[in-house]
Order: sequence, then structure tokens, then C-alpha cells
Amino acid sequence: CGIIGIIGRETVAPRLVDALKRLEYRGYDSAGIATLENGQLDRRRAEGKLRNLEARLGEDPLPGTIGIGHTRWATHGVPNEANAHPHATARLAVVHNGIIENFRDLKADLAADGYTFESETDSEVVAVYVTRQMDRGLGARDAVSSTLKRLEGAFSLAFLFTGDETLLIGARRGSPLAIGEGRGEMFLGSDAIALSPFTDAVRYLEDGDWTVVTRDGAEIFDALDRPVERPIRRSVGKA
Ligand code: GLU
Repeated sequence: CGIIGIIGRETVAPRLVDALKRLEYRGYDSAGIATLENGQLDRRRAEGKLRNLEARLGEDPLPGTIGIGHTRWATHGVPNEANAHPHATARLAVVHNGIIENFRDLKADLAADGYTFESETDSEVVAVYVTRQMDRGLGARDAVSSTLKRLEGAFSLAFLFTGDETLLIGARRGSPLAIGEGRGEMFLGSDAIALSPFTDAVRYLEDGDWTVVTRDGAEIFDALDRPVERPIRRSVGKA
């Protein structure tokens, strides 16, 4: 339902939660965040309100200067912790808004190849599909771009990769995603409201676009993987 991604210079977990609070108006049933510290992926997730996630983070904080967060409004799989995003494998974590319509076919294909699943969601299939592409030797960007071509439905996605603290990848089709431009830090958000505490300079992805985001900027590609430019817009009211 709501997505945030931050690649920054200071501890991101509290900022991810702040951004998720700004997305609460959209409604949600669970929430979670994932970060990287020394290349290791770790996540905290909780059913229910953001205060449950905050309580979990209070007991067991997440370090790291790069991370992704999500508020979930369940479409496939009951609202519980196992179905909450981010979904993760040894290689990556992903947050997803929308619905992957062909997830059953993709899941069957991956299961036939020996891949296993921890949730009932359509979203986890994206994590596992990209993982298989990487297991076959592709780098993160090619693994994501080749996976996007297999997905049917409406989605926005944000990925974080084990061992790579320099990179977030985002994608949108039928569900919004924006890039926030900071100074030495960059953001992904499902809307400008999520990004408003951090920056008022926002680039909206167009349908089919995907983006490779580093601390220094973002490269944007269209559905045919051609580099494209999208204008920076100034949104009102940076908080
Ligand atoms: N279809 C996904 C799920 O049920 C994402 C739902 C959402 O947009 O929050 O987990």
C-alpha cells in the first residue's frame, strides 16, 4: 500500500518509520522495514499499527544507512507478520504495492526449480524470481529488469540487495512511485507525501519505468530498458 526507500548517510530506520506514518492515511494492516548493515540484510515486521513495529524496533533496533519500508493492505494472504513486507531471500528484500496477477504460475515455476516460500503473498514471488535470476548469474539490475518482463498486473516495487549498500532499485507499472532528490542521499516513495520530510524535489516514474538509485542520483529506464529523463518537480510544503 505504501512504499518508502532511503539511501542515505545516517541511520535510516527511524526515518523509514516516519515516512510510513505519513502514508498511514492510505490505510494498512501491517508494516515492516529492512536495512543493510555491513552488507547484511535484516528486517523487522509487525501486524497491526505502526506502534507495533516501533515497539519491535525499540526492543531490537535496526542499524544501517540504507533501507526500505512498507505499509501493507493485504490482497493475497491474511494480515500477519509472515505475510508483511519486506519479503526477503538470501540475496535481497523487496516491498510491493499492488497485485502480481500471474503469481501462481510464477510460483509453480519457481517451486519446480526447488525454490521455497515463507508467505502466502503474491509479492514474495517477485523476491524469489529476482533471486533465481541472480543465482543464474545476472547482476541486480539485469535480474530486476528481466523479472519485470515476466510480471503481470499492477505494481510498484522497491528492492534492497544483500552486500550492496550503494543501490536501491525501484519500478512502477499501474501503481505510483517517485524518486526524491536529496543532497548525498536519495529516496523512493509511493507518493510525494512520504518524501515530504526529506525533500521537495521529486521525479515521478512513468508507467513501465524502473530506476537504479545510488546516493549520488538516479538512472531511469523505460519498459524497453532505454535510458529516459523525467523532470524534477518541486512539491509544495517541505515539512
Ligand atoms: N498484494 C500484496 C500483498 O497482499 C501487496 C498489497 C499492498 O499493496 O499493500 O501483500
